[in-house]
Amino acid sequence: MASPLPLVPGGRIGILGGGQLGRMIALAAAPLGLKTHVFAPDPNSPAFDVASERTVAAYEDEAALTLFADAVDVVTYEFENVPAETARLVAAHKPLFPNERALATTQDRLSEKTFLRDLGLPTPAFAPVDDRGSMAAALGAVGRPAVLKTRRFGYDGKGQVLVREGLGIDQAVAMMGGQPAILEAFVPFRAEVSVIAARSRSGEFAAYDVVENRHENHILRSSHVPAAIKPETAASAVAIAKKIAEALDYVGVLGVELFLVDGPAGERVVVNEIAPRVHNSGHWTIEGAETSQFEQHVRAIAGWPLGSTRTRGQVVMTNLLGAEANQWRDLLAEPGAAVHLYGKGAPEPGRKMGHVTRVRN
Ligand code: AMP
Repeated sequence: MASPLPLVPGGRIGILGGGQLGRMIALAAAPLGLKTHVFAPDPNSPAFDVASERTVAAYEDEAALTLFADAVDVVTYEFENVPAETARLVAAHKPLFPNERALATTQDRLSEKTFLRDLGLPTPAFAPVDDRGSMAAALGAVGRPAVLKTRRFGYDGKGQVLVREGLGIDQAVAMMGGQPAILEAFVPFRAEVSVIAARSRSGEFAAYDVVENRHENHILRSSHVPAAIKPETAASAVAIAKKIAEALDYVGVLGVELFLVDGPAGERVVVNEIAPRVHNSGHWTIEGAETSQFEQHVRAIAGWPLGSTRTRGQVVMTNLLGAEANQWRDLLAEPGAAVHLYGKGAPEPGRKMGHVTRVRN
């Protein structure tokens, strides 16, 4: 498809996926005079509340996808498990940002890690695991402790097993339930950090300050900016994100999750994974940076100039998980606390129901 023209105010952005990320993209598009059309299978999708148009249909529904693509100027997605066929169909009608290659590379952990290694970027040692034989070979190459992960559909630590001394090969393979997997060396990290960055259609690149992320039960608990990291380490993390974005001809916001490791030569970063979308560890930018990651994503895919990524102070973003969202009244009473509730139904344990951001100057 020929290089598309930039959008003009009144232009229409299609969003595949109706979760809180899609909701916050739609919320950011409105002040820029852009309309959003959310495509999602669940009629209760949180993004529907704030979008101009909606389509409730399955990602496999070709007729609905075609109508959706025809009704918008550009399409993006808010989760990386968009089926390849869905992306292909949409991209045949309208520009898809980030492109199909970014999606295909990042939705399979093996292709993602291979891509990173081929770019010369630091990753944990890894090897594919499909059965008992390849697991034995992978353990020989990677050693213990290691982390066995399903290649696809893993998030928030789901589909992961820590392979310590004593865990049998058969037992570990059985825990993957027959799904293709990848074995990674366990990284003894000091901290987990992320880079939220954007690349525009014209190749302009902008990154936010590096974020430090604290997890509980594999779920993001809080993000802290600036991260406790040396300036040169932060610069190397940003350089990694830039290299990834350029290699994928990426357009939009991406999140790169990294481990911060102490070694004999000082601290360094190792890449864990790439999220081809706006990211939970970038929610702090709504109040804590001069341009939010959601606006930045809209600007990038619209073919517009990127905004300033400058941080406004010391920022902490805390997720409201499950019943924690019931504290909304107390949080609203706290001066300076910015409360975001996603309009979801049942507050199941661990479910991301909202977040609160505190900026100190
Ligand atoms: P992931 O789904 O790959 O982001 O992994 C979820 C979490 O598991 C990460 O945020 C880490 O806390 C932990 N983890 C994943 N891979 C490794 C690894 N290779 N070494 C140590 N911890 C890991």
